[in-house]
Amino acid sequence: MKAIIIGAGISGLMSGLLLAKKGVKVKIYDKNQEVGGVTSLLKKNGYTWEQGPLLMGEFLPGENGYEELKKQGIELKTIRSDRGIVMPDYDMWKPDEYQGPNWRRERLIQLFPEEKRGIKKYYRFYEAMAKLTLPNVSKLKKFFLFLKVKKFVKYSAQELMDYFFKSEKIQTLYTAILADFCASPQEFPGLGVPLLNLETAFDMRIPLYKNGKKIRKGFCYFQGGVYQVALALAETIKANGGEICLGRTVTKILVENEKVTGIRLENGEEDYAPIVVASGGAHDVFYDLVGQEKLNQELTEILQDHRAMESVFMVHLGVDFNPLDFQKAALCYYYKTYDLEAAIQRLRNGIYHEGEDGFLIYVPSFHTPEFAPKDHHAVTIYTVAPDTLQEGTWEDLKEDYAEKLIRLAEEYLPNLSKHIKEKVIMTPLEYRRLAHLKKSGFGGLVPRLKVKYPPHKTPIEGLYFVGQQSENAGGVGAVLMGAVDNFKNIEKDFKF
Ligand SMILES: Cc1cc2nc3c(=O)[nH]c(=O)nc-3n(C[C@H](O)[C@H](O)[C@H](O)COP(=O)(O)OP(=O)(O)OC[C@H]3O[C@@H](n4cnc5c(N)ncnc54)[C@H](O)[C@@H]3O)c2cc1C
Repeated sequence: MKAIIIGAGISGLMSGLLLAKKGVKVKIYDKNQEVGGVTSLLKKNGYTWEQGPLLMGEFLPGENGYEELKKQGIELKTIRSDRGIVMPDYDMWKPDEYQGPNWRRERLIQLFPEEKRGIKKYYRFYEAMAKLTLPNVSKLKKFFLFLKVKKFVKYSAQELMDYFFKSEKIQTLYTAILADFCASPQEFPGLGVPLLNLETAFDMRIPLYKNGKKIRKGFCYFQGGVYQVALALAETIKANGGEICLGRTVTKILVENEKVTGIRLENGEEDYAPIVVASGGAHDVFYDLVGQEKLNQELTEILQDHRAMESVFMVHLGVDFNPLDFQKAALCYYYKTYDLEAAIQRLRNGIYHEGEDGFLIYVPSFHTPEFAPKDHHAVTIYTVAPDTLQEGTWEDLKEDYAEKLIRLAEEYLPNLSKHIKEKVIMTPLEYRRLAHLKKSGFGGLVPRLKVKYPPHKTPIEGLYFVGQQSENAGGVGAVLMGAVDNFKNIEKDFKF
């Protein structure tokens, strides 16, 4: 049995690994010269930056991604860390001395005493949601936990926030992260809010275990970057007889009598297999590689309603000072507006905020000192950004935008511009190239209530779809586990 995989990002690699381990002859094609998709590293003159994902959920012991990798013989070094949040007129840095897992709740009550009741209620809801998603929770316990959150199942994020809080200053603390997804709080599922705001992300001292039992999930960095996951998956594939063909673009998925038969490459060469697993953009795969005429009504409707996230604008810097002397954690979000709805509309309409709505500063050399020469650091400043600008082009405007972001960041990292030794700007155009998408889509699809996403199992026999545009909101953990779920489809369909 043979399988062809399109894309050597995390989803394609994980799919390839599972098939190769079952004795299937796996061939992976990727347009890029290295594996990893958006996880691949950017290197210049002694500095290294992560181009895509940075902070990972699901990869600490006892969590889905970690356990799945471990099952496949992959154990990588991860590091927990804290995330700061700076709002327009208050901030949420962890206290110098540990004050227990609920310090953010107490700090909010101090800041907004009139909202004490709502804040306490939110945290009761939060606890139930955080426990519900823990692995190894018994069905009975899950049932009782679900009863506590059931009434919010149909709530949007905005409805949920309005239920608990009056002030948009508190609401935005929890919903600002939706700007990354280009998701309006009106359309994002309310139950997702606590999961995007795990308290453990803001203070690494909050314990994840009690008496050896997992009680909370956390976030982590991979030492050496998330790219290490891609490298480890690729090595395991090769060790199991799989082949990874880089620098090869797939231009057609071959279909006969509603069954997949193989693929065509840019040079016209064809390769044949009864199983094809495609990652990448949903429109790119189904419209361009397969052809709209081969899709059924249901998939056509899903694709018509399909909305990918917008993109990112990143300024990667090599600096000769320690930014962590000024920013207390490797990652901090600096939000500049409480009007999230307007910010998201601007983004969707091709209007770039130039950092005025907010940005984040990330220091990857915190977890991997080798990412910068001795006494230097690698720093990334980034914002969400429209894939296509309403006025002007990314190519023409990128230098000005980078300068402006550096100036804004200087408010928190004094004299930053005087310490810059290296600079690389990445616009949405680079992201399109990196992920081979016609429209770059940051992490994947905009997560929306009551919306169907393209299924793993397509109406074409033998053709499967995985990756960032098959999963609600994407993310490394989600695409890895999506590949695992999809593998079950293949196992069932091909009876091995
Ligand atoms: C800037 C940024 C920050 C992010 N931050 C986080 C984060 O902090 N945490 C998190 O969990 N997630 C984050 N994400 C999301 C996460 O990185 C993605 O959801 C995930 O890595 C996607 O994996 P993938 O395999 O689906 O796609 P990709 O990594 O995009 O890989 C797809 C691969 O397929 C190849 N390909 C596609 N079509 C073809 C074709 N026709 N022929 C040949 N090759 C093809 C592409 O070249 C590419 O290498 C971030 C993403 C970005 C871009």
